[in-house]
Amino acid sequence: MLATMLCWAMSNAKMKNDSIMENVVSLAKRRGFIYQGSEIYGGLAGTWDYGPLGVALKNNIKNLWWKRFVLDREDMYGFDAAILMNQEVWKSSGHVGGFSDPLVECTKCKKRFRADHLDDKTKCPDCGATLGEEKQFNMMFKTRVGATEDESATSYLRPETAQGMFVNFKNVVDSFHPKLPFGLAQIGKAFRNEIAPRDFLFRTREFEQMEIEYFVRPETWTDAFEGLRAEMHAFVGDIGLAPGDVHELEVPDGDRAHYSKRTIDFEFDYPFGRKELYGLAYRTNFDLSAHTGGSKVDISYFDEETKERFVPHVIEPSFGVDRTVLAVLTSAYTEDEMGGEKRVYLRLAKAVAPVKVAVFPLLKNKPELVAKAREIYTTLKKDIGAVLFDDNGNIGKRYRRQDEIGTPVCLTVDFDTLEDDTVTIRDRDTGEQERVAIGDLKSRLMA
Ligand code: ATP
Repeated sequence: MLATMLCWAMSNAKMKNDSIMENVVSLAKRRGFIYQGSEIYGGLAGTWDYGPLGVALKNNIKNLWWKRFVLDREDMYGFDAAILMNQEVWKSSGHVGGFSDPLVECTKCKKRFRADHLDDKTKCPDCGATLGEEKQFNMMFKTRVGATEDESATSYLRPETAQGMFVNFKNVVDSFHPKLPFGLAQIGKAFRNEIAPRDFLFRTREFEQMEIEYFVRPETWTDAFEGLRAEMHAFVGDIGLAPGDVHELEVPDGDRAHYSKRTIDFEFDYPFGRKELYGLAYRTNFDLSAHTGGSKVDISYFDEETKERFVPHVIEPSFGVDRTVLAVLTSAYTEDEMGGEKRVYLRLAKAVAPVKVAVFPLLKNKPELVAKAREIYTTLKKDIGAVLFDDNGNIGKRYRRQDEIGTPVCLTVDFDTLEDDTVTIRDRDTGEQERVAIGDLKSRLMA
């Protein structure tokens, strides 16, 4: 009996989680956050396009990251390297030889799977036939630069932003003479020809990363590692995820990347399971040494105080932007009842919400209300930026539309406004309304 109940509860939880994913994907499309890539041509697996609200949400996340890790610190330098790099970069870094996942192909239906994602590596999960032998599949997208066809023209779409910073270490040191420890920080696209893209934004073939390469004296790596570990948790708070939503996993010896002496995965409870959101790795001096070897350019550091020359070690916090967007959307997605009606809303933190305030005239056909609402909208837009004007449909419907995209506050101009210069502001989460003087709006809404 207990087993049956447990089974029922588990399948119920699974159904709930499956439906959360379906609902989030459908809301994201319907309301203009995220669309399937190349949709009108039947799509392109592993690609997604961000619509107006999606790009606003994503930019808010990137800006919060840039603020915490670059603007608010003295020891970080922003960077933006080219996506295409000399193929030698990827030979030295080990990606040409080893950036691969284990691939198995079904002998009958010819579908391909990532072997390490299968419970049974011998049987096709789709048709049940025998799976072929496991092979290594390199995940870099290969391309050609220029009009030549030969091997010298080969390049790759970068599979991580990190290498663009390692190969520029010397440039930054020569321009800025920074003292250790210091970091380079970059936000940009990365491409991986994933064998099985899946779970919406979680595993895609084109995605964005926010990465830091933090250079330290070898003996101080633990301090830097702990400092950045704490900052990563603080960033999780910045974007509105609860501290309990993100769990650390100490990656054991055999499972770490070849360059890493210590790695902590920051995992998030997605509706489809607990999976990696971010990574924090101690990469030793592997990369700078590898590029010194490959380029024959000395990429060491000279410490003016101690008169020592050495190759710095690196701590790398790595964040996926799209996995963050997915974590934020799935944790914000809420269904409840308000005023006796079912509603769906996104409980987004104000800092990431694509629209911060929506301004409504109570009635569309009263020019004096519309004019006053437009005046308030224009003023707020100058100060807050992400403000939206909506005069379409009844107020209840307008509230629901804003709830669904996570707008924290709606503001309504009514006939009393014309008399006493106050408006109604309504809170997304509680539905509570209060009157606020127009003169107090800016300080109130920007708090
Ligand atoms: P996984 O084991 O899930 O494939 P990974 O360990 O290979 O991930 P890293 O190489 O550490 O990932 O990349 C750093 C970050 O980039 C990840 O923590 C994740 O947020 C993001 N990321 C990596 N691969 C993808 C992908 N295919 N789609 C979306 N984001 C990704």
